[in-house]
Amino acid sequence: MNPTTKRKIAIIGGGPAGLMLAARLDEKKFEVTLYEKNTAPARKFLVAGDGGLNLTHSEPLEQFIKRYTPVSFFEPILRNFSNTDLQEWFKSIGVPTFTGTSKRIFPQKGIKPIEVLNAILKVLKDKNVKIQTNYTWKGEEMNADISVFALGGSSWKVTGSDGAWTGYFKEKGIEIIPFQASNCAFKINWSKNLISLAEGLPLKNISLKSLNVRKEGEVVITAFGMEGSAIYALSPQIRQQLNEHQKAFCYIDLKPSLSLAKLTKFLESKPANNTMTNYLSGTLNLSKSQMALLKNLTTKEDFTKPETLAAKIKELPLEIVGLGPIDEAISTTGGISLEEIDTNFQLKKWPGHYVIGEMLDWDAPTGGYLLQGSFSMGNNLAEYLNKSAVVHS
Ligand SMILES: Cc1cc2nc3c(=O)[nH]c(=O)nc-3n(C[C@H](O)[C@H](O)[C@H](O)COP(=O)(O)OP(=O)(O)OC[C@H]3O[C@@H](n4cnc5c(N)ncnc54)[C@H](O)[C@@H]3O)c2cc1C
Repeated sequence: MNPTTKRKIAIIGGGPAGLMLAARLDEKKFEVTLYEKNTAPARKFLVAGDGGLNLTHSEPLEQFIKRYTPVSFFEPILRNFSNTDLQEWFKSIGVPTFTGTSKRIFPQKGIKPIEVLNAILKVLKDKNVKIQTNYTWKGEEMNADISVFALGGSSWKVTGSDGAWTGYFKEKGIEIIPFQASNCAFKINWSKNLISLAEGLPLKNISLKSLNVRKEGEVVITAFGMEGSAIYALSPQIRQQLNEHQKAFCYIDLKPSLSLAKLTKFLESKPANNTMTNYLSGTLNLSKSQMALLKNLTTKEDFTKPETLAAKIKELPLEIVGLGPIDEAISTTGGISLEEIDTNFQLKKWPGHYVIGEMLDWDAPTGGYLLQGSFSMGNNLAEYLNKSAVVHS
């Protein structure tokens, strides 16, 4: 086939979304160039790998889909390229995966994040994808038939994902939703006493509820407030309340394994010669941090009434007064409004130009859902373009 008949695609942004798109495009139909402002692609991907590269999650697809906001946007994306599809693809490029105890999926033990990246880059090399680094897009039309933006969100700016691109899209009348931190620290005005007793301590095997959505997992008490998987997963509910009322409520269940009735009965049967504090930590196994939190957020009187105390242990209210700094957040919401794209990620107001990955306004918790979302969009756009490409031979 004459190579000049191939259509030119410019992918701008070398994160998971852009890399997956490049890896899945048909090299017989397209001449692909990937532009990246850094000296090398995927810095945020490598940062994400620092604490273990959590590529996706193993839960059943029906449940998996519900983790995303908005679900309606993600459902077709994930049905087309699911968590199992992603694992199979990684296996096919020499990156077998394993499921951790938390049901999260990681590259098999011993495979480092840089090796995962190199395996992806090898696919690009084999497909003759050109990579142009040190190229910062500033609103210009690219020398290509199709341009795809995969510029990321706006946290951890040091990785290159700085959200500095919003103005160029605004100039074209494209709606930009302001960035907000997600999967971030949440500010709580703890008492000095609580910080001195519990700063840095985890609260394990708890559940958290906000706006009637309940999440299980773990959190850590910090001087700023609270962090951790359980509270990250409630980011949409907390952000919504903060945006409307400048404060948000979250209710922590310190003993999810016991019903309120069982817990009340248990507290009522405390031996008279034991103190409630000893009984809770000794027999109920409440940890140091759980005890500190409970004591700080209840009155002495609450401790004297089993029914009231049980209710507090099951639903201890936390008042959240703000989000942590956006640059320290694991992800951001905001960016290009989903209203601006069609079902194939094409900008309605700028035909021939597509947008994928975290630069779109969506949200998902940590646990591999963020990377999966970006990888799925990259894959699906490649499939669509491969199918729709007209090749003149
Ligand atoms: C500390 C941390 C831990 C994380 N852990 C996990 C995890 O365990 N699991 C998970 O699923 N997700 C995790 N994430 C989130 C995940 O890394 C991101 O959601 C994902 O990288 C988004 O992919 P993307 O391709 O959309 O954008 P990005 O990865 O942000 O890539 C965008 C690329 O575009 C480039 N770029 C930006 N502007 C321009 C421009 N004007 N011109 C040219 N290039 C430009 C950037 O340099 C960057 O390389 C973590 C994130 C952080 C910060």
